Amino acid sequence: MERKKLVIIGSGPAGYTAAIYAARAELQPVLYEGFLSGISGGQLMTTTDVENYPGFQDGILGPQLMDAFRKQAERFGTKILSEDVVSVDFSKTPFMVNGSQTSFEADAVIIATGATAKRLDIKGTRDGELWQKGVTACAVCDGAAPIFRNQPLYVVGGGDSAVEEAIFLTKYGSQVFIVHRRDELRASKIMAERALKHPKITMVWDTVIEEVLGDNVVKEVVLKNLKTQAIERHPAGGVFFAIGHQPNTGFLNGQLKTHDNGYLVVEPGTTKTSQEGVFAAGDVYDFSYRQAITAAGSGCMAALDAEKWLSEKGLT
Ligand code: NAP
Repeated sequence: MERKKLVIIGSGPAGYTAAIYAARAELQPVLYEGFLSGISGGQLMTTTDVENYPGFQDGILGPQLMDAFRKQAERFGTKILSEDVVSVDFSKTPFMVNGSQTSFEADAVIIATGATAKRLDIKGTRDGELWQKGVTACAVCDGAAPIFRNQPLYVVGGGDSAVEEAIFLTKYGSQVFIVHRRDELRASKIMAERALKHPKITMVWDTVIEEVLGDNVVKEVVLKNLKTQAIERHPAGGVFFAIGHQPNTGFLNGQLKTHDNGYLVVEPGTTKTSQEGVFAAGDVYDFSYRQAITAAGSGCMAALDAEKWLSEKGLT
């Protein structure tokens, strides 16, 4: 069994940045970029223009940005494997990392598997229907696209994300509707008040979207009031799911401490997880900022934390 100083699991901005730093520190990292899990390159692979990543004054396409990250990681000697990690064993050192085809022993591990925005299985929103043609799960990524300008936009959810995304979308849409399945927001008080007071936001309580209609773009939503069972059709230019994210931690099989919401716990101000020698970077632990730039920043932190830890243990 080949033994590595550092194995990085995950390949969004966090994983690739960790690899760039670790490779330059001559840790000869192996990076599992994922395959079937769809995490290769992370959430930016499913967005179009990224306009808030510093350094690109005219914006850059998400996949193009991730391709550049990937090539930079490779340039310094990262070995990238297009495989999913199916299991890990952190109960003894060196740790075990098992991919779908290869396995390594690892002195240190960085988990950068990100999170997946949850979607609802609603008629008209599936892959091959209107998904990514006006139906998305990331207003901040996609909201500024021309198709949403001056259109009535629908956000589904009642938490901080839904409110934040609705407020963000008021810059672009003619009117923003928050469709929530209950009659009370889950969002924090201050965020909820902002939404309730906003002149361009309308709450649609006790309601779910039954269907999204359109051809190549979203044209209408079919709403169902859960109390009265009344069905209504309304013009719509976009539908945004904001019903939370799911951190991609299944393969860890409960070996690292998580918060109640499933995100990995790290020691504040560091990327250290509950297991010494295992570090976390990006959205797999960060449920607050969730930006490409913050993920990249924490990837750098994780590589530096791992390097320091390996050096303290005499493993570099
Ligand atoms: P969340 O708090 O879990 O809220 C998810 C919302 O989606 C809930 O209102 C839930 O409805 C609704 N929902 C879930 N499943 C649904 C379904 N199948 N059909 C219809 N509606 C459904 O998730 P979040 O808003 O993404 O927030 C996650 C965490 O990040 C929270 O801790 C939040 O405070 C934090 N966050 C903070 C900020 C900020 O402070 N600026 C911004 C974003 C996120 P119910 O209410 O009925 O369960």
